[in-house]
Amino acid sequence: MIKRTMTGANQIICEGCGLNITGKVIEFDHIIPEALILDKSAALSITDGRVLGRDCCHRAPGGKTAHDLADIAEAKRREARHLGIRTRPRLRTAGFAAPEPQRSASRPLAKPAAWRRDDR
Ligand SMILES: [Zn+2]
Repeated sequence: MIKRTMTGANQIICEGCGLNITGKVIEFDHIIPEALILDKSAALSITDGRVLGRDCCHRAPGGKTAHDLADIAEAKRREARHLGIRTRPRLRTAGFAAPEPQRSASRPLAKPAAWRRDDR
């Protein structure tokens, strides 16, 4: 893979944008994110990866990794929806009332009726 990106002048070229990344941080990218591959038994080959510059293509804002993470998250949401998995409990729809507001310094604690002594 690294040979594929080398030019005759011993320069490393980013396979994403073609920039000369000699001396810069390079990263090996899965073209199809590994989390999105269903058949994990198939062996990876040299054609499944490529050399990207970390700062120009791979981890730059809006780069390959950001897109991959969004795709992986969307795939997980679709799978959860398909399987009927709910992320947040929906207790109020099951007949439970809204919780009492939490006590805070500006909202004093209301004492229960059993604690009140009206005989004083
Ligand atoms: Zn690049």
